[in-house]
Amino acid sequence: MAEQTVGYVELEWRCPSCGNRNPGSVKKCVQCGAALTEEVQFEQAPQETIIADEAKIVAATAGADIQCGYCGTANSATAKKCKQCGADLAEGKARAAGQVLGGFRDQPAAPLKCPACGTDNPPTALKCANCGAALLQPKPKPEQPAASKPFPVAIVLAVLLACCVLAAAFFFLSNRTTDTIGEVRGVNWQRAIAIEALVPVVREAWKNEIPAGKQASQCTSRVHHTQPDPAPGAKEVCGTPYTVDQGSGFGKVVKQCVYEVSADWCKYDDIDWRVTNTLTAQGSDLNPRWPDARPGSNQRLGNRQEQYQVTFTANDKTYTFSPPTGEEYVRFPPGSKWKLKVNTFGAITGVEPASGGQ
Ligand SMILES: [Zn+2]
Ligand SMILES: [Zn+2]
Ligand SMILES: [Zn+2]
Repeated sequence: MAEQTVGYVELEWRCPSCGNRNPGSVKKCVQCGAALTEEVQFEQAPQETIIADEAKIVAATAGADIQCGYCGTANSATAKKCKQCGADLAEGKARAAGQVLGGFRDQPAAPLKCPACGTDNPPTALKCANCGAALLQPKPKPEQPAASKPFPVAIVLAVLLACCVLAAAFFFLSNRTTDTIGEVRGVNWQRAIAIEALVPVVREAWKNEIPAGKQASQCTSRVHHTQPDPAPGAKEVCGTPYTVDQGSGFGKVVKQCVYEVSADWCKYDDIDWRVTNTLTAQGSDLNPRWPDARPGSNQRLGNRQEQYQVTFTANDKTYTFSPPTGEEYVRFPPGSKWKLKVNTFGAITGVEPASGGQ
Protein backbone atom coordinates (compact mmCIF):
# COMPACT_ATOMS: atom_id res chain seq x y z
CA MET A 1 0.00 0.00 0.00
CA ALA A 2 1.24 3.42 -0.87
CA GLU A 3 -0.29 6.40 0.86
CA GLN A 4 -1.36 9.27 -1.35
CA THR A 5 -2.24 12.71 -0.05
CA VAL A 6 -5.49 14.04 -1.46
CA GLY A 7 -5.14 17.39 0.31
CA TYR A 8 -5.81 19.18 3.59
CA VAL A 9 -9.07 20.16 5.27
CA GLU A 10 -9.76 22.42 8.23
CA LEU A 11 -11.01 20.62 11.32
CA GLU A 12 -13.07 22.17 14.09
CA TRP A 13 -13.29 21.93 17.87
CA ARG A 14 -16.07 22.30 20.40
CA CYS A 15 -15.50 24.81 23.18
CA PRO A 16 -15.54 22.92 26.53
CA SER A 17 -16.93 26.04 28.27
CA CYS A 18 -19.76 27.23 26.04
CA GLY A 19 -20.15 24.42 23.48
CA ASN A 20 -19.47 26.67 20.50
CA ARG A 21 -17.97 25.10 17.36
CA ASN A 22 -14.73 26.80 16.35
CA PRO A 23 -12.55 26.52 13.23
CA GLY A 24 -9.44 24.39 13.80
CA SER A 25 -7.13 27.28 12.91
CA VAL A 26 -8.57 29.44 15.72
CA LYS A 27 -7.09 28.54 19.11
CA LYS A 28 -9.49 30.59 21.30
CA CYS A 29 -13.24 30.17 21.37
CA VAL A 30 -14.72 32.85 19.13
CA GLN A 31 -17.75 33.05 21.45
CA CYS A 32 -16.36 33.02 25.01
CA GLY A 33 -12.58 33.28 24.58
CA ALA A 34 -11.76 29.99 26.31
CA ALA A 35 -8.48 28.43 25.19
CA LEU A 36 -8.16 25.30 23.10
CA THR A 37 -6.71 22.93 25.68
CA GLU A 38 -4.98 19.58 25.32
CA GLU A 39 -8.09 17.62 26.29
CA VAL A 40 -10.22 19.08 23.51
CA GLN A 41 -10.20 16.88 20.43
CA PHE A 42 -10.32 18.15 16.87
CA GLU A 43 -13.30 16.85 14.93
CA GLN A 44 -14.22 16.64 11.27
CA ALA A 45 -16.54 19.31 9.90
CA PRO A 46 -19.90 17.97 8.73
CA GLN A 47 -18.79 18.68 5.17
CA GLU A 48 -15.09 18.89 4.29
CA THR A 49 -13.54 20.88 1.46
CA ILE A 50 -9.93 20.51 0.29
CA ILE A 51 -8.09 23.76 1.12
CA ALA A 52 -6.83 25.78 -1.85
CA ASP A 53 -5.51 28.77 0.17
CA GLU A 54 -1.67 28.68 0.27
CA ALA A 55 -1.36 30.27 3.73
CA LYS A 56 -3.74 27.72 5.23
CA ILE A 57 -1.87 24.84 3.58
CA VAL A 58 1.36 26.13 5.17
CA ALA A 59 -0.39 26.17 8.56
CA ALA A 60 -1.84 22.71 7.94
CA THR A 61 1.58 21.20 7.19
CA ALA A 62 3.55 23.08 9.88
CA GLY A 63 3.17 20.24 12.39
CA ALA A 64 1.16 19.68 15.54
CA ASP A 65 0.31 22.64 17.78
CA ILE A 66 2.38 23.15 20.95
CA GLN A 67 0.38 23.29 24.16
CA CYS A 68 1.88 25.89 26.50
CA GLY A 69 3.33 24.19 29.58
CA TYR A 70 2.08 27.01 31.85
CA CYS A 71 -1.34 28.12 30.66
CA GLY A 72 -2.26 25.22 28.39
CA THR A 73 -3.01 27.34 25.34
CA ALA A 74 -2.40 25.83 21.91
CA ASN A 75 0.21 27.63 19.80
CA SER A 76 1.25 26.99 16.23
CA ALA A 77 4.19 24.64 15.76
CA THR A 78 6.49 27.44 14.66
CA ALA A 79 5.80 29.76 17.66
CA LYS A 80 8.62 30.21 20.21
CA LYS A 81 6.63 31.95 22.97
CA CYS A 82 3.04 31.41 24.13
CA LYS A 83 0.78 34.02 22.59
CA GLN A 84 -1.42 33.87 25.70
CA CYS A 85 1.10 34.12 28.56
CA GLY A 86 4.49 34.62 26.87
CA ALA A 87 6.03 31.48 28.37
CA ASP A 88 8.85 29.70 26.51
CA LEU A 89 7.25 26.97 24.40
CA ALA A 90 10.36 24.76 24.68
CA GLU A 91 8.60 23.57 27.86
CA GLY A 92 5.41 22.92 25.91
CA LYS A 93 4.08 19.67 24.58
CA ALA A 94 3.08 18.91 20.97
CA ARG A 95 -0.54 17.89 20.47
CA ALA A 96 -1.20 14.30 19.56
CA ALA A 97 -1.41 13.77 15.80
CA GLY A 98 -1.93 10.94 13.36
CA GLN A 99 -5.31 9.65 14.58
CA VAL A 100 -7.70 8.63 11.81
CA LEU A 101 -10.85 10.70 12.33
CA GLY A 102 -13.05 9.05 9.71
CA GLY A 103 -13.88 8.88 6.04
CA PHE A 104 -13.36 12.06 4.01
CA ARG A 105 -16.68 13.94 4.17
CA ASP A 106 -16.73 15.31 0.64
CA GLN A 107 -20.44 14.67 0.15
CA PRO A 108 -23.05 17.38 0.83
CA ALA A 109 -24.14 17.04 4.46
CA ALA A 110 -27.60 17.60 5.90
CA PRO A 111 -28.42 21.19 6.91
CA LEU A 112 -27.87 22.13 10.56
CA LYS A 113 -31.04 23.17 12.36
CA CYS A 114 -30.57 26.08 14.74
CA PRO A 115 -31.36 24.91 18.30
CA ALA A 116 -32.64 28.43 19.15
CA CYS A 117 -34.83 29.51 16.23
CA GLY A 118 -35.16 26.36 14.11
CA THR A 119 -33.67 27.86 10.95
CA ASP A 120 -31.86 25.43 8.60
CA ASN A 121 -28.26 26.51 8.04
CA PRO A 122 -25.66 25.14 5.59
CA PRO A 123 -23.65 22.27 7.14
CA THR A 124 -20.47 24.37 7.00
CA ALA A 125 -21.99 27.21 9.07
CA LEU A 126 -20.79 27.65 12.66
CA LYS A 127 -23.43 30.19 13.65
CA CYS A 128 -27.10 30.59 12.78
CA ALA A 129 -27.53 33.06 9.92
CA ASN A 130 -30.86 34.14 11.42
CA CYS A 131 -30.22 34.56 15.17
CA GLY A 132 -26.47 34.05 15.63
CA ALA A 133 -26.81 31.06 17.98
CA ALA A 134 -24.02 28.45 17.90
CA LEU A 135 -24.83 25.50 15.69
CA LEU A 136 -23.91 22.03 16.91
CA GLN A 137 -23.14 18.96 14.85
CA PRO A 138 -25.51 16.12 15.42
CA LYS A 139 -23.74 13.80 17.88
CA PRO A 140 -22.37 10.74 16.13
CA LYS A 141 -24.54 7.75 16.92
CA PRO A 142 -22.94 5.52 19.55
CA GLU A 143 -21.69 2.24 18.14
CA GLN A 144 -24.51 -0.27 18.30
CA PRO A 145 -23.31 -3.33 20.18
CA ALA A 146 -23.79 -6.35 17.95
CA ALA A 147 -27.37 -7.41 18.51
CA SER A 148 -26.88 -10.98 19.53
CA LYS A 149 -29.15 -12.86 21.83
CA PRO A 150 -27.51 -14.58 24.76
CA PHE A 151 -26.38 -17.90 23.43
CA PRO A 152 -28.62 -20.77 24.52
CA VAL A 153 -25.86 -22.47 26.48
CA ALA A 154 -28.18 -25.12 27.88
CA ILE A 155 -29.21 -26.28 24.39
CA VAL A 156 -25.60 -26.44 23.21
CA LEU A 157 -24.61 -28.46 26.26
CA ALA A 158 -27.53 -30.83 25.75
CA VAL A 159 -26.61 -31.40 22.09
CA LEU A 160 -22.95 -31.94 23.00
CA LEU A 161 -23.94 -34.39 25.70
CA ALA A 162 -26.22 -36.30 23.31
CA CYS A 163 -23.39 -36.50 20.74
CA CYS A 164 -21.00 -37.81 23.40
CA VAL A 165 -23.47 -40.45 24.52
CA LEU A 166 -24.08 -41.59 20.93
CA ALA A 167 -20.36 -41.70 20.14
CA ALA A 168 -19.65 -43.63 23.32
CA ALA A 169 -22.48 -46.07 22.56
CA PHE A 170 -21.20 -46.58 19.00
CA PHE A 171 -17.64 -47.09 20.27
CA PHE A 172 -18.84 -49.54 22.91
CA LEU A 173 -21.05 -51.55 20.52
CA SER A 174 -18.33 -51.60 17.81
CA ASN A 175 -15.80 -52.96 20.26
CA ARG A 176 -18.05 -55.39 22.07
CA THR A 177 -17.47 -58.61 20.21
CA THR A 178 -18.55 -62.16 20.58
CA ASP A 179 -16.43 -65.10 19.45
CA THR A 180 -17.96 -67.54 17.04
CA ILE A 181 -16.54 -70.37 14.95
CA GLY A 182 -17.02 -69.82 11.21
CA GLU A 183 -16.30 -71.94 8.17
CA VAL A 184 -14.98 -70.49 4.90
CA ARG A 185 -17.73 -70.87 2.31
CA GLY A 186 -16.32 -68.87 -0.52
CA VAL A 187 -13.44 -66.67 -1.63
CA ASN A 188 -13.02 -64.19 -4.44
CA TRP A 189 -10.40 -61.76 -5.63
CA GLN A 190 -10.15 -58.91 -8.11
CA ARG A 191 -7.03 -57.17 -9.38
CA ALA A 192 -6.88 -54.21 -11.75
CA ILE A 193 -4.14 -52.27 -13.56
CA ALA A 194 -4.73 -48.88 -15.15
CA ILE A 195 -3.28 -48.27 -18.61
CA GLU A 196 -2.13 -44.70 -19.17
CA ALA A 197 -1.47 -43.07 -22.51
CA LEU A 198 -0.04 -39.77 -23.66
CA VAL A 199 -3.00 -37.71 -24.82
CA PRO A 200 -3.37 -34.11 -25.96
CA VAL A 201 -4.36 -31.67 -23.19
CA VAL A 202 -4.87 -27.91 -23.06
CA ARG A 203 -3.00 -26.16 -20.28
CA GLU A 204 -3.10 -22.57 -19.07
CA ALA A 205 -0.21 -20.42 -17.88
CA TRP A 206 1.23 -16.91 -17.85
CA LYS A 207 2.54 -16.25 -21.32
CA ASN A 208 6.13 -15.81 -20.15
CA GLU A 209 6.01 -19.13 -18.27
CA ILE A 210 4.87 -21.29 -21.19
CA PRO A 211 7.57 -23.90 -21.94
CA ALA A 212 9.76 -23.17 -24.94
CA GLY A 213 8.42 -24.67 -28.15
CA LYS A 214 4.75 -24.45 -27.08
CA GLN A 215 2.41 -22.13 -28.92
CA ALA A 216 0.33 -19.68 -26.82
CA SER A 217 -3.27 -19.09 -27.89
CA GLN A 218 -6.45 -17.41 -26.61
CA CYS A 219 -4.55 -15.04 -24.36
CA THR A 220 -6.45 -12.69 -22.05
CA SER A 221 -5.10 -9.89 -19.88
CA ARG A 222 -5.34 -10.62 -16.14
CA VAL A 223 -4.06 -9.04 -12.95
CA HIS A 224 -0.74 -10.78 -12.32
CA HIS A 225 0.10 -9.09 -9.02
CA THR A 226 -0.32 -5.86 -7.09
CA GLN A 227 2.55 -3.71 -5.90
CA PRO A 228 2.95 -0.49 -3.91
CA ASP A 229 4.85 1.35 -6.62
CA PRO A 230 3.63 2.53 -10.02
CA ALA A 231 4.80 0.73 -13.14
CA PRO A 232 4.23 1.31 -16.87
CA GLY A 233 0.77 0.09 -17.82
CA ALA A 234 -0.20 -0.66 -14.21
CA LYS A 235 -3.67 0.31 -12.99
CA GLU A 236 -3.94 2.38 -9.85
CA VAL A 237 -6.54 1.10 -7.37
CA CYS A 238 -7.23 3.22 -4.30
CA GLY A 239 -9.29 2.79 -1.17
CA THR A 240 -11.74 5.34 0.23
CA PRO A 241 -10.03 8.59 1.26
CA TYR A 242 -10.02 9.39 4.98
CA THR A 243 -9.07 12.29 7.21
CA VAL A 244 -6.09 12.12 9.61
CA ASP A 245 -5.71 14.61 12.49
CA GLN A 246 -2.50 16.67 12.07
CA GLY A 247 -2.73 18.20 15.56
CA SER A 248 -2.69 21.63 13.94
CA GLY A 249 -6.42 22.15 13.56
CA PHE A 250 -6.18 20.67 10.09
CA GLY A 251 -6.65 17.19 8.75
CA LYS A 252 -4.71 15.46 5.99
CA VAL A 253 -6.95 13.57 3.57
CA VAL A 254 -5.17 10.44 2.39
CA LYS A 255 -5.95 7.30 0.45
CA GLN A 256 -4.15 3.97 0.28
CA CYS A 257 -3.35 2.81 -3.24
CA VAL A 258 -1.86 -0.21 -4.94
CA TYR A 259 -0.93 -0.80 -8.56
CA GLU A 260 -2.35 -3.76 -10.43
CA VAL A 261 0.14 -5.15 -12.94
CA SER A 262 -1.48 -7.21 -15.68
CA ALA A 263 -0.02 -9.92 -17.88
CA ASP A 264 -1.23 -12.29 -20.58
CA TRP A 265 -2.82 -15.54 -19.38
CA CYS A 266 -2.83 -18.05 -22.27
CA LYS A 267 -3.82 -21.53 -23.26
CA TYR A 268 -1.36 -23.89 -24.95
CA ASP A 269 -1.45 -27.42 -26.29
CA ASP A 270 0.53 -30.10 -24.47
CA ILE A 271 0.46 -33.85 -23.86
CA ASP A 272 0.04 -35.64 -20.54
CA TRP A 273 -0.42 -39.12 -19.09
CA ARG A 274 -4.10 -40.00 -18.57
CA VAL A 275 -5.82 -43.28 -17.69
CA THR A 276 -7.33 -44.55 -20.94
CA ASN A 277 -8.19 -48.10 -19.95
CA THR A 278 -8.33 -50.37 -16.90
CA LEU A 279 -7.63 -54.10 -17.19
CA THR A 280 -9.13 -56.38 -14.55
CA ALA A 281 -8.78 -60.03 -13.60
CA GLN A 282 -10.94 -61.83 -11.07
CA GLY A 283 -11.57 -65.28 -9.74
CA SER A 284 -13.08 -67.44 -7.00
CA ASP A 285 -9.94 -69.36 -6.14
CA LEU A 286 -6.83 -68.85 -4.03
CA ASN A 287 -4.59 -68.00 -6.98
CA PRO A 288 -4.92 -64.25 -7.50
CA ARG A 289 -2.96 -62.90 -10.47
CA TRP A 290 -2.51 -59.61 -12.22
CA PRO A 291 -4.20 -59.03 -15.59
CA ASP A 292 -1.94 -59.48 -18.60
CA ALA A 293 -1.17 -55.84 -19.36
CA ARG A 294 1.17 -54.98 -22.20
CA PRO A 295 1.44 -51.26 -22.73
CA GLY A 296 1.89 -50.18 -26.34
CA SER A 297 3.91 -47.28 -27.60
CA ASN A 298 3.03 -44.01 -25.85
CA GLN A 299 1.46 -46.10 -23.06
CA ARG A 300 2.52 -47.09 -19.58
CA LEU A 301 1.12 -48.99 -16.58
CA GLY A 302 -0.64 -46.89 -13.95
CA ASN A 303 -2.14 -47.64 -10.55
CA ARG A 304 -2.75 -51.18 -9.37
CA GLN A 305 -5.68 -52.15 -7.17
CA GLU A 306 -6.47 -55.41 -5.44
CA GLN A 307 -9.51 -56.56 -3.47
CA TYR A 308 -10.05 -59.80 -1.61
CA GLN A 309 -13.12 -61.20 0.08
CA VAL A 310 -13.71 -64.24 2.26
CA THR A 311 -17.24 -65.40 3.12
CA PHE A 312 -17.84 -67.32 6.35
CA THR A 313 -20.89 -69.10 7.64
CA ALA A 314 -21.43 -69.46 11.37
CA ASN A 315 -24.65 -70.39 13.15
CA ASP A 316 -26.63 -70.08 9.87
CA LYS A 317 -25.37 -66.54 9.40
CA THR A 318 -23.09 -65.22 6.70
CA TYR A 319 -20.16 -62.91 7.43
CA THR A 320 -17.73 -61.35 5.03
CA PHE A 321 -14.14 -60.38 5.68
CA SER A 322 -11.72 -58.48 3.43
CA PRO A 323 -8.06 -59.48 3.91
CA PRO A 324 -5.87 -56.48 3.15
CA THR A 325 -3.22 -58.37 1.16
CA GLY A 326 -2.96 -61.32 -1.19
CA GLU A 327 -0.63 -63.09 1.27
CA GLU A 328 -3.32 -63.01 3.92
CA TYR A 329 -6.07 -63.96 1.45
CA VAL A 330 -4.47 -67.28 0.51
CA ARG A 331 -4.67 -68.43 4.17
CA PHE A 332 -8.44 -69.01 3.81
CA PRO A 333 -9.08 -72.20 1.83
CA PRO A 334 -12.79 -73.04 1.56
CA GLY A 335 -13.88 -75.42 4.31
CA SER A 336 -11.29 -74.18 6.86
CA LYS A 337 -12.57 -73.12 10.27
CA TRP A 338 -11.77 -69.86 12.05
CA LYS A 339 -12.55 -68.12 15.28
CA LEU A 340 -14.37 -64.91 14.31
CA LYS A 341 -14.72 -61.85 16.50
CA VAL A 342 -18.08 -60.32 15.51
CA ASN A 343 -19.25 -56.99 16.87
CA THR A 344 -22.80 -55.83 17.59
CA PHE A 345 -23.25 -54.61 14.01
CA GLY A 346 -22.40 -58.00 12.52
CA ALA A 347 -18.97 -56.94 11.28
CA ILE A 348 -15.90 -59.11 11.69
CA THR A 349 -13.25 -57.27 13.70
CA GLY A 350 -10.74 -60.12 13.99
CA VAL A 351 -9.98 -63.57 12.63
CA GLU A 352 -7.84 -66.20 14.35
CA PRO A 353 -7.18 -69.83 13.51
CA ALA A 354 -9.73 -71.94 15.37
CA SER A 355 -8.06 -74.03 18.06
CA GLY A 356 -7.74 -77.54 16.80
CA GLY A 357 -6.36 -76.48 13.43
CA GLN A 358 -7.75 -75.47 10.07
ZN1 LIG B 1 -16.60 29.06 24.22
ZN1 LIG C 1 0.80 30.07 27.87
ZN1 LIG D 1 -31.11 30.65 14.93
